[in-house]
Amino acid sequence: MCWQPEYEMLPREQLEALQLERLQTTLAQAGKSPYYGAKFAEHGIAPQDLTDISQIRQLPFTTKEDLRANYPYGFVTVPRDELVRLHCSSGTTGNPTVIFHNRHDLASWAKLVARSLYAAGARPHHVFQNICGYGLFTGGLGFQYGAECLGMLTIPSAAGNSRRQIKLMQDFGTNVVHAIPSYLTRLYDVFEELGVAPTDTQLKLLVIGAEPHSEETRKRIEALFGVKAFNSYGLSEMNGPGVAFECEHQNGLHIWEDCYVVEIVDPVTLEPVAPGEIGELVLTTLDRQAMPIIRYRTRDLTRFLPGECVCGRTCRRIDRITGRSDDMFIIRGCNVFPIQVEKVLMEIPQVGNDYVIVLETKDDNDQMTIEVEVSREWFTDDYSQLESLRKLISHRVRDEVLVTPSVRLVEPGALPKSEGKAIRVRDLRQKG
Ligand code: ADP
Ligand code: ZN
Repeated sequence: MCWQPEYEMLPREQLEALQLERLQTTLAQAGKSPYYGAKFAEHGIAPQDLTDISQIRQLPFTTKEDLRANYPYGFVTVPRDELVRLHCSSGTTGNPTVIFHNRHDLASWAKLVARSLYAAGARPHHVFQNICGYGLFTGGLGFQYGAECLGMLTIPSAAGNSRRQIKLMQDFGTNVVHAIPSYLTRLYDVFEELGVAPTDTQLKLLVIGAEPHSEETRKRIEALFGVKAFNSYGLSEMNGPGVAFECEHQNGLHIWEDCYVVEIVDPVTLEPVAPGEIGELVLTTLDRQAMPIIRYRTRDLTRFLPGECVCGRTCRRIDRITGRSDDMFIIRGCNVFPIQVEKVLMEIPQVGNDYVIVLETKDDNDQMTIEVEVSREWFTDDYSQLESLRKLISHRVRDEVLVTPSVRLVEPGALPKSEGKAIRVRDLRQKG
C-alpha cells in the first residue's frame, strides 16, 4: 500500500524510537563498508552505544568529496552479487558520485516515491507521464517505479520531443506529469504553437522538482497549465526523488523521517541552527542496506517550517530549497543566490520564462548582466517601452541583491535551452 499512515503519522516519540532502532541497524550495516569500517574504528563508534536519536550529532559527517574519494565501491556493504542497480548524480557541480542499491533498497525507494505522489493527490486510477531524463539520472527510473508501485499507468516518455509529449498526453489522457520546472515553461510554448490548451487535456496535477525554483515560478507554471504544481525534492545520494514532497496543502515539503534522519546545520560551524533558521540540510539514510550514508552534507539550504500540517502527517516540513551553498556567487562583496534574482524577475508580468545571469570582468571590475526573455504576450519593438522594462528590472534586482545589474532583453525563446537542469549562472570572470 502506498499511503503509509503507520509511518507518515507517527507521534513524535514513537517516530524517534523507530529512528533510533533503524539508525542502530544502519550503523551496524554501514560498518561493513571499507569507508565506514575504518571511520568507525577511528572514532570508536559502536551502534549499540547510541541511546537517543539526538546522539547522531556525535557521528562524523559524510561529504560529496568522501564519496568521490572512495569511488566506486568504498561505501558498499554487501557482496557485489547482491547489487542490482547503480545511479549517478547529474554531475551539476563536478564529477558524479555513484550510489548502489540492492533489491531491498529499490523496493523501499519505490514505496517512498509512491507515498510522495499519493500525498500530492495522485491515485492508482491516474495516468502518469514521466517527462525527464531516464538512465543514470534518478528522476527517470525513480518516478517510474514509484508511480508503478502506486498503481498508475505510467508512460516513460523521457525528456525532449515536446510535440510527442503532448500527443501522448492527449492519446492516453495523462492526469499527472512529472517534469523539471524549466522544461514545463517550454512545453507550454509548444502547446501554444499547436493551438492546444493544457486545460483541454485530462491533466490534474504537476510534480516539479530536481532544480531550485521560486514560488513565483511555481505560480506561473500553475497559471499556464491550470493545475497545481507540487514540489518534489530528492538527491541521488539519498536515492533520488521521494526524500521530501509537498502534500495537497502545498505548505512546505514533508520530509520522510522514518527513512531519513534530518538535521539542519550552520554550514560554517556545523552546529544545529536555531529552530526556523536557514542552514544546510544533513541527511542520514535509515532504510538502505547496500550503501547507507551517515550525516550527508547535501549542500542544499533550507529551514524547518513550524507547526503541524493540517493533513495530519507528523513528518516535519522543510521550506523550498533556496539553492545549494555552492550556487551562491559573490559579486562586488554581495552574496547572491540565483533564486533571489529569479523571484524578482518572475514577479514582473512582462518578463518571459527564461533568464541567465552572466558574470564578467570588465576593466578590472566584476559585472553582472541578466539576459531576460520578454514574454510572448508583451513582446514589442517599441524602444521606449523596452527601455523602461530594462530599468524596472535593474532597479528591482538591485533592491533585492544590492548590486545593480545590466539587463539585456531578448526575444521569447532566444536563450539557449539545456537538455536537463537549467543553467542559471555563467561565470566568465577572470579568476585570481
Ligand atoms: P546533481 O547534484 O549532480 O544535480 P542530483 O540529480 O542528485 O545530482 O540532484 C540533486 C540536487 O538537485 C539536490 O541536491 C538539489 O540541489 C537539487 N534539487 C532537487 N530537487 C530540488 C527541488 N525540489 N528544489 C530545489 N532543488 C532541488
Ligand atoms: Zn501535509
